[in-house]
Amino acid sequence: MAEPAPHGTPRRYRHGPCHCDLCRAAHAAAARQRRRDKAYGRYRPDVDAEPVRRHVRKLREAGLPLPQIAALADLNRSTVSTLLHGRPPQGVPPTRKMRAVNADKLLAIRAEQWIGAAS
Ligand SMILES: [Zn+2]
Repeated sequence: MAEPAPHGTPRRYRHGPCHCDLCRAAHAAAARQRRRDKAYGRYRPDVDAEPVRRHVRKLREAGLPLPQIAALADLNRSTVSTLLHGRPPQGVPPTRKMRAVNADKLLAIRAEQWIGAAS
């Protein structure tokens, strides 16, 4: 059910795990970027997913469908689904830590965006 991340992504390198040329290059690029960000004081470690999960639950209660939430945040549907429910078939618990940028994107969504779009 859960599809592995595509080749050429740091995720696939870590969780595939796949160490093909594409995945190795992506992993190396991500490590370089992290070093650069740290050097410039822009590095943001992963954040607690709980407040984000609460926010997304409120959006759901306001009537936003999960695919719509994912689209508004420009995230994979599975990222949002895993945040809420984990991946029970794989025994994966709901997300505990998430990328700060992804948290920002989800927290920026307002229920009114959807109501506005529907009218
Ligand atoms: Zn690969």
